[in-house]
Amino acid sequence: MAFSSGNILVVEDEQAIAETIVYALETEGFQPVWKTTGRAALDVLASQTVALVVLDVGLPDMNGFDVCRELRRHHVVPVIFLTARDGEVDKVVGLELGADDYVAKPFSPRELTARIRAVLRRTNGNGATAAPANATAIWTHDPAKCRVEFYGVTLELTRNEYRLLAVLLAQPGRVFSRDQLMSAAWDDPGAALDRTVDAHIKTLRAKLREVAPEADPIVTHRGLGYALSET
Ligand code: CA
Repeated sequence: MAFSSGNILVVEDEQAIAETIVYALETEGFQPVWKTTGRAALDVLASQTVALVVLDVGLPDMNGFDVCRELRRHHVVPVIFLTARDGEVDKVVGLELGADDYVAKPFSPRELTARIRAVLRRTNGNGATAAPANATAIWTHDPAKCRVEFYGVTLELTRNEYRLLAVLLAQPGRVFSRDQLMSAAWDDPGAALDRTVDAHIKTLRAKLREVAPEADPIVTHRGLGYALSET
């Protein structure tokens, strides 16, 4: 999957507005992908890396709020709403959908691209489920609170999952054997079977996948053990 920081998903059913947006984005060096329905937009997000979503509230198949709610379940991509009425603005602000900004219609293409640039700057251009430039952008580890954030989302981990992940996080790229992981993460390693590490890695991966389906940061080294991806 190719990563481009310039892919902007434009979800707008009115052709004239969409064409204006697409033209403005292309002029400024972005690669816009235009879709007219919420369903088509979600399909794009499931299959390619997008830096930001421009999302119209009034779509033919589902409203923009539902699209946003749905995409928030799987993606951390920034969203800018396009609203047509004052009531919609109130909703964007009030629903706490995690919208990064909104632009009220009618708007100038310049205003929209300026907002897009501002949001991308704020989110560091790494809001999507792409592999960011360095590991620190992905992970935040607070050992005092036994808390790990992945792409800004706090992970709900069991004690052993947390301890396993903390060991891997301490040295990204280093391959740890199952024995090493077990002695580091279990109070009584002798009592646990080798497979237990695999079982916990599996549940850990599932939790990471819920945040960023494409990231898969835990690497299996066959016959050796596991490592955390360095990028
Ligand atoms: Ca519309």
